Amino acid sequence: MPEKFTGRCECGAITYEFSDAPEFVANCHCRDCQRSSGAVTGSYFSVAEDDFTLLSGNPKGYSYVVASGNTVVRNFCPECGARVFTDHLSGFPGQVFVMLGSLDDPERIEPPIMEIFTRDRISWTKALDVPQFPARPDAAPGSPEESAPGGCG
Ligand SMILES: [Zn+2]
Ligand SMILES: [Zn+2]
Repeated sequence: MPEKFTGRCECGAITYEFSDAPEFVANCHCRDCQRSSGAVTGSYFSVAEDDFTLLSGNPKGYSYVVASGNTVVRNFCPECGARVFTDHLSGFPGQVFVMLGSLDDPERIEPPIMEIFTRDRISWTKALDVPQFPARPDAAPGSPEESAPGGCG
């Protein structure tokens, strides 16, 4: 059996593991990710809730409605403040979205397969050579969903 994937917050109070190699890996440029992560883009991947195990720590969950109208819970370490994962997403039930930078070995997973909410991209960040979506990838071009105020989750 392959070694489990592991990760942690900056101070190490929160640690987690999961088994299955993530298939959905994305760079999200939405304003919500920019603000909640403090970075120019949010890089994250999804793990099935059943596969995600918190090994230590008591993440503080911040629940709110993102611009898309969906509810999410951003989980961060109350000690060091690192945003580690997002769960209870009304738009993606059963999935946990884990911040890529929290992995102990980020090189072990495949690179992003898409970039989303590129309409909020900070102009000096370069596009990766993967499909680019101005909003959510499931929003049809020109549809109200594509032009509605967005935020992933
Ligand atoms: Zn911490
Ligand atoms: Zn986002």
